[in-house]
Amino acid sequence: MLSIVSTPIGNLGDITKRAIETLSKVDAIICEDTRVAGKLCTQLEIPKKEFISMHSYTSDQKIEIVLRRLKKGENMAVTSDAGTPGISDPGFKLISRARERGIEIEVIPGPSAFLAALSISGLPANQFLYLGFLPVKKGRKRLIKSFAEEKHTIVFYESVHRIEKTLIELSEALSEQPDRKIVIARELTKLHEEVIETTVEGLPTVAKEITNKGEFVVVIEAV
Ligand code: SAM
Repeated sequence: MLSIVSTPIGNLGDITKRAIETLSKVDAIICEDTRVAGKLCTQLEIPKKEFISMHSYTSDQKIEIVLRRLKKGENMAVTSDAGTPGISDPGFKLISRARERGIEIEVIPGPSAFLAALSISGLPANQFLYLGFLPVKKGRKRLIKSFAEEKHTIVFYESVHRIEKTLIELSEALSEQPDRKIVIARELTKLHEEVIETTVEGLPTVAKEITNKGEFVVVIEAV
């Protein structure tokens, strides 16, 4: 059995009961950074486990070894450093191959930063467009320009290194919609959680003030 286990995005209290039970009983935990997974297990008082690191660039050979072990009947959990595996995080390749092989898979759902941001944004979230991380180069300009026509609430991830630049680019691309609402969710569920509500017009000011460290989700009102 392969168990897909979501883990907290910052607050340990958000771990689910099923996640603890599953991580405690599996033979091995497939994770991104073994130190992050190790720390989580220590905090949760989960008995010592085998950790298998897996990233988007992990070789097919390594995935094959894991699949064979699962096929033989071992139980493994797949986690990412934070949030839900496969959501802008590794996991997809392993899960799709496990499905092809007829390996039993279960999901232990839990936190995901984009869902938390959507729900706190106050913007309609019945329908939304999730974009993960925006492309850094190819297609970036065209994609941001297309936001001017987007009929769904837009949500995407941004790193501290690029947040200022992205907010400036948004303010330029959407300059004809100065009142359009933008919500920037920073460090959700953590000590310095902050939700900044602004408009396209207010973006340059917000961009200048965002100097702190953190992880960000940007939510943009639909047209
Ligand atoms: N799989 C994760 C999930 O389900 O949310 C997302 C992983 S992605 C590599 C990491 C990005 O998620 C960060 O760069 C940031 O944009 C966003 N993120 C993660 N934790 C966050 C938090 N506590 N507050 C705001 N954004 C967060």
